[in-house]
Order: sequence, then structure tokens, then C-alpha cells
Amino acid sequence: MSGKLKVTGLNKSYTKRQADAPAAVSDFSHEFTKGKITSILGPSGSGKSTTLMMIAGLLAPDSGTVVLNGRDLTHEPPEKRKCGLVFQNYALFPHLNVVENIEFGLRVRGVSVVERRRRAMEMLELVHIPQLALRRAHQLSGGEQQRVALARAVAIKPDVLLMDEPLSALDAKLREDLRAELSRLLRELALTTIYVTHDQAEAMSLGHEMIVMNEGRKEQAGLPEDLYRRPATPFVARFLGSANVFPAEIEIASGRRLLQLPGVRIDLNGSSAAAGSCWAMIRPEDLEPSAPGSEHFLADVESTFFHGNSIRLHLRAGGEHWLADVRNETPIASHQQLPMRVRTDKVFVWPRAN
Ligand code: ADP
Ligand code: MG
Repeated sequence: MSGKLKVTGLNKSYTKRQADAPAAVSDFSHEFTKGKITSILGPSGSGKSTTLMMIAGLLAPDSGTVVLNGRDLTHEPPEKRKCGLVFQNYALFPHLNVVENIEFGLRVRGVSVVERRRRAMEMLELVHIPQLALRRAHQLSGGEQQRVALARAVAIKPDVLLMDEPLSALDAKLREDLRAELSRLLRELALTTIYVTHDQAEAMSLGHEMIVMNEGRKEQAGLPEDLYRRPATPFVARFLGSANVFPAEIEIASGRRLLQLPGVRIDLNGSSAAAGSCWAMIRPEDLEPSAPGSEHFLADVESTFFHGNSIRLHLRAGGEHWLADVRNETPIASHQQLPMRVRTDKVFVWPRAN
């Protein structure tokens, strides 16, 4: 199986570069794991689509290379790249029926009528809509159109499958159902897949691996759990889930390791963190109300939000804003002082330049 994709030093500016005009993509390098799904996650405008379009050949990079299966394709047109593409807006041909849409890429590549009909029907079985074979594209629901778009992308037996926010035009319930189905399907296909999304739940649940982008740069890459548990920057910590992130200091005194957060000091017993300046991250779920006297700090409850299975507290302590997700057992009123404890084994710290 082919599908070995490596991009190196990709740069792209849409406007003539000025000192204050940041590039859409800056120095993006990555070796994608063959046969696995890599999700690219980042806020709107962070350069995800631009990166994907350079890989597909729809956009020429200012510099950098795209190498697929050992061949430099940087200056090759899209049709020479064997990339299957799925976009948010489906981009089906409305006047063609489902089978004709799926066959399109095969026809362009000169595959025989018999073979492309066979392949199209096989793809329709794969995405579970064989009964829609003769429907015209404009007669399909959004979810059905997206299945056809996927079938069409996969029909050409691509080396790489590129998907750009394929579910984001669908409503929430359908999106969640399709996400589960897509996850199963993509794992079955075992193609080298890049899945672009701004939805963190989608990125974490679909991707074997994940890249977080910020302002055109690759901020961090790795396994979803690692990025969630061990973010490399405050941006990643806050972008993946909610996080309390503070600049902090670790002092080691008489065998104790003390974490000094703004206005709050916590004994990190059992930790092996080095002394010095750091960032400290505490997830909201790793904070809990404690019995009076055994708290790490006293917090002012600013507001509470009922989330069904938990309550989100907005707290103020040490002059900082904190988030805590606590179990929905004892009622907690706003405008009271609450003793809080941190699950110290869950505190994550990483070095910070002074
Ligand atoms: P994302 O897909 O992460 O939302 P994009 O790659 O679309 O981000 O955009 C990255 C940056 O490039 C943004 O600042 C965006 O405004 C800019 N950009 C995207 N497409 C164009 C374009 N065709 N012309 C000019 N600027 C663009
Ligand atoms: Mg985009």
C-alpha cells in the first residue's frame, strides 16, 4: 500500500508580504503516518484549509515541498496526485445522478464503463446508500450528499484522502451520528487520511494522530490523549477542552515541592517537576469542593451553570478566574466562598521561558 506523505517547510501568503501581514501558513512540516487518520485542528483562519489545498495541488506554495511515496509533487497538478477530496460544501454535480457523480473521477482517468460502474456500486455499498444510486444529487439530504462525496473521493483508490470540515454544514445530531459512522469507515479503509476540522471533539475522536494549528503554524502534533494531557503551550491547553492555565513557579523547600500559582500555593507531593518558572495547567474536572480546613484555596463563586451531569463553576481566587466542573450532588450557590481542592496528581506543568 502506498500513501507515504511528507510535507516540508510549506509557506503561503495570499497578499504580498508586508511586515504586519502574517502568512496564511508558515513553515509547516509534517510526516503523516501511512494508513492512519491525522486530524488538523485549529480555530477559523489558522491555515488548515490552505495547508490542505497545497497538499492537494489546488494552491501553489510560496516555498516548501510535498512528497508522496518518495516523489516530489510540489509542481504537479491535482490530477497527478491521487488525492481523494471531500469538502464541506459537497461539490457534487447537481445534474448528475449518484452513480454518475461517483464515476466522475474514474471517467476522467479513463477507466472502462463496466469497471467504473462496478466500482461505483461497490462504493455505494460501502457508504450504505445503494438504494440511492439513481437519485440526482440535488434530491439528496446533506448527510446523503456527504456520503456520495466520500464515495466519489474513495472510488479513485487515492493514495491520500483529504477531508476539509466534511460534517460542519450538517446539524448537530446528524453530525454526531455521521462522525461515528465515518470513524468506522475511515478505519476500515486504512488510507492515509487528513481530516481538517475546527471541532475538537471531532478531531480527537476521529484522528489516530492530531495536529493543532495556530496562526498558520503547527503548534503541536501527537496522539490526541497526549495533547490533551500534556499540551506543549497554553494555546493547546486552552483550545483542547477547557483549562486553567497560569504562569507559575516551582520551589523545592525541605523536600517539599511547592507550586506557586497567582495567589494560590499548592503542595505537589509526589511530583518530579523541576524547580523554576513554568506554566501550570489544571483541568476543570480536576478541581473539587473540599471540607473546610483541608482546602488548597478559598474561591469566590461568581456563577454556576447547570450542565446536567455536572455543574460548571466560575470561580475567582488569587485574583484569577478559574473554571471547575463539579458533580451535580450538593447545591452550590453563587456569591459564597467555597473551599476547593486540586487533584494534585493531575496538575500538568511545563517549562516557561522567563
Ligand atoms: P482555516 O481553514 O484554518 O479557517 P484558511 O487556510 O482558510 O484557514 O485561512 C488562513 C488565512 O488565510 C486566514 O487569515 C484567511 O483569511 C486567509 N485566506 C484564506 N483564503 C484566502 C484568499 N483566497 N485570499 C486571501 N486570504 C485568504
Ligand atoms: Mg478552512
